[in-house]
Amino acid sequence: THVLVTGSTGFIGAHVVDNLLARGISVRGATRSAKKGEQMKAARPQYAPKLDFVVVEDFTNIGVFDAAMEGIDAVIHVASPFFYDTTNNEQELILPAINGVKSILSASAKPGSKVRRIVLTSSFASVVDIDSNPPAGFTYTGTHWNPLTYETAIDPKSTSIVAYRGSKKFAELAAWDFVKTEKPQFDLVALCPPMVFGPVVHPVPNIDQLNESNAVLWSVAAGVDPLPGIRVPAWIDARDLAEAHVQALLRPEAGGKRFIPASPEPFSYEYAADIMKESFDWAKGSVTSNYKAGEKPHASYGVDGETVARELGVKYHTFKETVVDFVKQVKDTLA
Ligand code: NDP
Repeated sequence: THVLVTGSTGFIGAHVVDNLLARGISVRGATRSAKKGEQMKAARPQYAPKLDFVVVEDFTNIGVFDAAMEGIDAVIHVASPFFYDTTNNEQELILPAINGVKSILSASAKPGSKVRRIVLTSSFASVVDIDSNPPAGFTYTGTHWNPLTYETAIDPKSTSIVAYRGSKKFAELAAWDFVKTEKPQFDLVALCPPMVFGPVVHPVPNIDQLNESNAVLWSVAAGVDPLPGIRVPAWIDARDLAEAHVQALLRPEAGGKRFIPASPEPFSYEYAADIMKESFDWAKGSVTSNYKAGEKPHASYGVDGETVARELGVKYHTFKETVVDFVKQVKDTLA
């Protein structure tokens, strides 16, 4: 097996690369940055024969993966723009997300392609109806879809947060539509994770360039005040999410399914602050005291992470393990 991993030099993609390599599976990482590809390779000398990188263009155009597919028989498509500091949401978030999906699927469906399965990193953003107040006991599953319309997503009056949610929903929809209308020789698995946290294994030049989700968690350690609010109360460790991607690739029965990889444990930044203070002496001095300590997080709805545990065999880290591993790593190596 030779797997193409897009977004391979990003937070989640690099964990997927490492999970595959540890199993002895050969990986081709796609990136826009030859330098980041070289850094990834240099950090993994033991895997040199099984790891190569291909430089692809930005997802401004469709067709950027056509030259990357030689010898590839499976794809994990992680890459998508994930940042909120935008000037034009449609150009920077929505169209690249959709074009990236269209490019990878069309390249994988070309005559002669050996690709049999594509795993897509979608998001809980394409599942959750953020403005609804679900009834008591409600649980989101892979059957639910965010009702956001394309018109609202691209509306210049919408925030980049709304536009990002649209980028993930409409990119995932483009993938399911492609499979339905083109009937390619591969099948599709979509993973819809909520917030992803955990130690980093990708090149991070400095602390200001942490990926979006980890940057918010680190801001708590660094003393942000007031603490960030949560948009969704659910999360997963990046290592567990990588395992879910690889299991979704390897298990034939996963084909055609849409999963939510999510820890059963809700989280909050207050809980993260408690964990940091009780685990690190230095954090007692930096983390704000301007919140109600000692409260376990409470979620107003459930998120079905059980199906991934059962059908993909994923065991979840606790929030405490994830926070401690991440904060320790950043403090020791970047801060
Ligand atoms: P990163 O920003 O660390 O990684 C994103 C990757 O996507 C980068 O490596 C980059 O590749 C690639 N990419 C971004 N924009 C473009 C573009 N315009 N053209 C081509 N490539 C692009 O983010 P994460 O690892 O956190 O996110 C990875 C995926 O997981 C995304 O699809 C995101 O939506 C999804 N996700 C993340 C969550 C989280 O909390 N982190 C939660 C739910 C879903 P390069 O620079 O190497 O070319």
